[in-house]
Amino acid sequence: MKVMAIFFLSIVATVMLFTACSEDDRSSSVGVEANGKSINNKTGTELGAQQNIMDVVTEAAVVYKSKVVENLAKHNKCNLHVGEYTTLPCANIGKAFKSMNENIVHVSDSGKIYAKKSGKTKVISRDAKGKYYKYKIKVLKKGFIYYNYTIMKGEKLDLRLGFTNKLKHMKWSSNNPSVASVKKYGLVKAKKIGKVTLTGKKNKRRYFLRLTVKKKPKSIIYLTFDDGPSPNCTPKILDILRKYHVKATFFELRPASTDYHITKRVIREGHTLALHGYSHHYEQIYRSKKIYRKNLDDLQKLFFKQFGVWCTVSRFPGGSSNTVSRFNRGIMTKITKKIHDWRYHYFDWNISSGDAGLTTSTKVVYRNVTSCLREGQENVVLMHDAPTKMFTVNALEDIIKYGKKHGFKFRAITAATKEVHHNVNN
Ligand SMILES: [Zn+2]
Repeated sequence: MKVMAIFFLSIVATVMLFTACSEDDRSSSVGVEANGKSINNKTGTELGAQQNIMDVVTEAAVVYKSKVVENLAKHNKCNLHVGEYTTLPCANIGKAFKSMNENIVHVSDSGKIYAKKSGKTKVISRDAKGKYYKYKIKVLKKGFIYYNYTIMKGEKLDLRLGFTNKLKHMKWSSNNPSVASVKKYGLVKAKKIGKVTLTGKKNKRRYFLRLTVKKKPKSIIYLTFDDGPSPNCTPKILDILRKYHVKATFFELRPASTDYHITKRVIREGHTLALHGYSHHYEQIYRSKKIYRKNLDDLQKLFFKQFGVWCTVSRFPGGSSNTVSRFNRGIMTKITKKIHDWRYHYFDWNISSGDAGLTTSTKVVYRNVTSCLREGQENVVLMHDAPTKMFTVNALEDIIKYGKKHGFKFRAITAATKEVHHNVNN
């Protein structure tokens, strides 16, 4: 009997809430129109570049029709993808929206929720009469990964690579194409310094990307470290990078679970986590295209599951110019042709520190790198943070000092960095 009563009460409560939402939906639409803003604003061009998208509700009425929101109105819960945004159905009656976990979702003053990271949380709002509304939010481990992104002027970013699942036929638009334009299918071009908001639409789903375009330095050094993480070298490298405020790129292999904290630190300190491979065994990974792809996919999935980072930047074990794969004739030619279709970038290097070959000398590593640095260019430096590479660690501080002294800027490779490739030899 008691159970029945609770069940009945909860139905009443739900119906009341749903009715309240419907009425407020109408007043919201009127409010939006009264402000003179079109609710069908397709491109968002009314928004100033500096304006915070969090405070804009022009699309509220459109979003209201979405299944997500219907579901939310009925059940006070919704599932979102990472990178997606939507509007709470009672947004206009609620004041004081609060996300119970800012890492998972952000909620704006106008009741727009932005899914930042997979997980479960709640959003609480209170109406004018002090009544509380609770929404259960679940952010699914799929969707669009880029949302706050910094790019350098002249760079291009292919948004199609930023999806954990294949959301084909997304339509993208920019609110300020003079700062950064975007092709409908998602190729972004950074044109001048500033900020821009990109909106992607796929049926009823909405994704967003806040893009900051920065100046591109003339002479850049991209320090890259392969084969880590290792407990003895990687933390020391991270300490040095932190000391000099330098960002770098780590092409990691599958970390031992006891080393996950090192990978977490790489991410937390603003470096780029990139894919070297689940395995480094040449005779295994270069047996076929399919096997190579799986070697990347498995690591990409592991990183996303463990660290919530979707990596698209990769480097071939041995480089794309390797000859160690010659037991399988033509495999590198085949893979390099296909790898972009698999939605990965790949980077070789144009400066080798020599620390994978004959050298075990700190002095030689230093000399190999500094003697090859070219001003006015992008210098991609190959180094290693595998367990035996303490001599590399010992050269790092002086390499950074040399670079800074000679006017180079250090940057991390991103999905927008122009790829550096070797000639393929197999
Ligand atoms: Zn390697």
